[in-house]
Amino acid sequence: GTQPARAALRPAQKGIEPSLQANQEKLKGYHDLAQDAIERAYNKDVEGASQDAIKLYRLGLNIIYEGLSLRTPSAGLGPAFSNVERWKEDMKQWLQRANDRLRDLEAPDASTSARGGAVAPAQCNPLAPTLAASTTLLRTRTTSQSSTGTPRVPAATPGGRGPGGAAAGGAAGREDARLREVVLGEILDTRPSTRWDDVAGLSAAKQALAEMVILPTLRADLFNGLRAPARGLLLYGPPGNGKTLLAKALAAEARATFFAISASSLTSKWHGEAEKLVRTLFAVAAEMQPSVIFIDEIDSILSERTAGEHEASRRLKTQFLVEFDGVAASSERVVVIGATNRPQELDEAVRRRLVKRVYIPMPDAAGRRELLWHVLAGQPARLSRADVEALVGRTGGYSGSDLAALCREAAMVPLRELGPALSTVSADQVRPIQLRDFEAALQTIRPSVGPEQLAAFEDWTRAYGSSGG
Ligand code: ATP
Ligand code: MG
Repeated sequence: GTQPARAALRPAQKGIEPSLQANQEKLKGYHDLAQDAIERAYNKDVEGASQDAIKLYRLGLNIIYEGLSLRTPSAGLGPAFSNVERWKEDMKQWLQRANDRLRDLEAPDASTSARGGAVAPAQCNPLAPTLAASTTLLRTRTTSQSSTGTPRVPAATPGGRGPGGAAAGGAAGREDARLREVVLGEILDTRPSTRWDDVAGLSAAKQALAEMVILPTLRADLFNGLRAPARGLLLYGPPGNGKTLLAKALAAEARATFFAISASSLTSKWHGEAEKLVRTLFAVAAEMQPSVIFIDEIDSILSERTAGEHEASRRLKTQFLVEFDGVAASSERVVVIGATNRPQELDEAVRRRLVKRVYIPMPDAAGRRELLWHVLAGQPARLSRADVEALVGRTGGYSGSDLAALCREAAMVPLRELGPALSTVSADQVRPIQLRDFEAALQTIRPSVGPEQLAAFEDWTRAYGSSGG
């Protein structure tokens, strides 16, 4: 009937295979990323900070190489396709100009070269020819810089008529200072409360963190060259097994400045400013190196899914990637650690940057034993070794937080038994926790992670995991 006819029409209308279509999206990402890097390079160049400019130009070039090597539709219809051509064209132009500029900058005595003295960087803006033509750039400009909708006039300062540049710098400076305050006040973790020993088990993960963060800060002389620590690490695994706990412990243990932010607060609390905050965060981290930037629930800002959704979240992601590449390309000792229980959703570009990926699994029998002893230590409990072994045997499939909840629930049983006497009894009259309390608790506290969820983690580990050691 009509069904097959309609189905036959569909591929003809689209005409592009899905992977190529995905690359089309990615190309846009690379285009914007490259634009951002080169713009920043150029700004540094103008400031005279040529070393920074060189790094950023190189970064931009690498992004362009990556972008141009994407396989994209070779022919097609509609606005999406003409964009592909335009993005590629832009990138080719930037490639050439940034390369030229880079050669000048890197040439010895560039500023006094035979070209007739200092080459004014203002004449070499790689983005210049497309700056006027590129509608994307113009659009982001106006939306990000004049949110009120009024034309952006540099510093119409009432009263003072100082030089426009200086006054604008003052406003930007105040803004910058405020963001730095947020970073130093709310993201910098100055009072870490969890110790390394509070984390039961997870020796492979502890080892990986020690190698990446703790040891290099103690012996910078040994950890260089081939032994230079990786800059990006991902802690992933099913919920409730100590990813966040481990990061908190790391803050106490590392002799590094520790910045911790949850990605969901970045988007909810700092919504409109998330991008700028990320930029400031990385800048402050570089100043206060060695530093660790811990981003909890990293999937919520850097997932594949957010890519096509909102302009704002895409920009935030771009900003993050640019900043990350910035510190990775520099000699600054800044390590980025992300944590997620949804690694499958991470954007490929992000995954690639978090080179060390450490699986935080459900606790095995030994892990559960250690966790139970750990949680019960110092509690009024009467449990024999055999009792604990029985519990270990019966809690297969329980996560760390399930086990903690189980212990809390078991600890409530003796109190509940007291009934009305609870208000008068003295603390030492409460009977200790026993195995039967756990048996009661096992009825109500059930494993929170199912087998099919675990299978998904194992698949991901097989595909993308790096060994935990
Ligand atoms: P999510 O993916 O949901 O963010 P998570 O892996 O970050 O989970 P945590 O918040 O670190 O999990 O752990 C939750 C709680 O479970 C901890 O506060 C702690 O009480 C307990 N817990 C989990 N794993 C461990 C562990 N290895 N040692 C000690 N306690 C643990
Ligand atoms: Mg967590």
